[in-house]
Amino acid sequence: MVASKNSPSHQTAEGPSTPDGLDTLNIAALIYRLDAGVPLLADANETAKRQLHLGDGFPMADPWQWLDAHRYPAAGLDHPALLNVSSENSRQWQCFHIRQHAQPLQALKLKISPLETRADEGATRHVLIAIGEITAIDDTPGLLPQAQPHLRQVLGNLPMGVCIIDLEGYLRLVNHAFCEFFGYAESELLNAHFRKLLPSQHHQAAEKQHAASFLEALEQRRAVEVRLHDGSSRTVIIEDTISHDEAGRPQRIAFLVDITERCDIERRLQEKNRRLEYLATRDDLTGLHNRRFGLELLEQTLERSQRYGEKVAIAMLDLDHFKEINDRYGHAVGDEVLTEFSHFMIGALRSSDTLVRWGGEEFLVILPGVDRFSAQTTIDRVLKQLRQRTLSTFRLRVSFSAGVGEYRDQMSKRLLEEVDHALYQAKSAGRGCVSIAPVSSTCQERCHARMFPSFQG
Ligand code: GH3
Ligand code: MG
Ligand code: MG
Repeated sequence: MVASKNSPSHQTAEGPSTPDGLDTLNIAALIYRLDAGVPLLADANETAKRQLHLGDGFPMADPWQWLDAHRYPAAGLDHPALLNVSSENSRQWQCFHIRQHAQPLQALKLKISPLETRADEGATRHVLIAIGEITAIDDTPGLLPQAQPHLRQVLGNLPMGVCIIDLEGYLRLVNHAFCEFFGYAESELLNAHFRKLLPSQHHQAAEKQHAASFLEALEQRRAVEVRLHDGSSRTVIIEDTISHDEAGRPQRIAFLVDITERCDIERRLQEKNRRLEYLATRDDLTGLHNRRFGLELLEQTLERSQRYGEKVAIAMLDLDHFKEINDRYGHAVGDEVLTEFSHFMIGALRSSDTLVRWGGEEFLVILPGVDRFSAQTTIDRVLKQLRQRTLSTFRLRVSFSAGVGEYRDQMSKRLLEEVDHALYQAKSAGRGCVSIAPVSSTCQERCHARMFPSFQG
């Protein structure tokens, strides 16, 4: 045994402040060896072994692993054996809290002093920690009380992960499936805070929820992301219920089911559905809305217009002499022109307008909130801008012809026929121009005309 030097007075190996001598005063003593700055518990007197339940086996468990995480959270606290042992420190009792497996929270009053090294131990430093007083602060049992052995046995054998968490958030029971799932030994989880099993960004919310579950005594079922020992994360369904231990203290019994695979499959399915939806509503070449979805959008716009009395105009555009581009430069260049034309149109129109590839080199524009005259002005402006542009690697100039019409309560099919007819007129008029469809009479006007035929004009 190394001789101690309890500052301020130097003491001998047989004195009451040596580890064995301290037994006579019922003072627990621990000796740490500092190996390259790492404290290793090298010895403990009988009082320490008894009071701290260290057992006789070697190496002994260092009681500092049980430092109460609740009181010394986050960054943690330096091991007391590493504290700067000034003469002042070693004269005063210092207080630390530990929460040891199956034991209540304990306050330890201790003194730290360096030990003088024997010649044959060279330069190895030793530190003596004398524990003068161990006080139990609460009487929370470490494990489920023995009065509940049956419950323990049932929960222990369940094939699903089960844990019991006390009011303060400490794990009081973890069954085999639970430990196996998280990748910890039972001793590493018992009396640990449940925070240990969650990614740090969820700590606050989880602790809030934990406290609320006792107040509201809710039976809850929810999906939670947890962190395993190896650092990976999984998604579990937690279903818990509040019960009471045999001393009447509330506790949460939580049942866990791993649903990570199910979540992965669901996520992949959702992605696939999104992709399918995209493909079902978009045109492959240009990425614009396709004709089927475009028609749906048109119906929706017309319905909204009818409900809120907003104006809607539409335009049908057809590229002029497009076949010649294909014939002269090839289909691939034609494709390039169609794609670049689509991008140009998106940039030239308002974000509230909708552009649809109606088919081939034909495009439908839905212009909410405008009448046919404003729509004609807009499409004319776009046509003028297009004439200033060149498209594709061959720097081709293109133009379009367009027919414009306005919604006046007619069916969408009828409105489309009207703009098609106007488009035909624009083509006939020499192409590269915009023609307006004559307005259809509204329902009201048609009714009025039926009731008072003589006023029709
Ligand atoms: P007009 O001024 O009368 O509209 O003449 P046009 O040549 O544009 O009209 P026409 O209907 O004769 O030809 C349209 C051409 O558009 C024929 C077709 O091969 C081509 N086309 C349709 N879809 C595509 C496509 O996706 N890619 C390419 N490259 N060409 C297409
Ligand atoms: Mg065409
Ligand atoms: Mg054409």
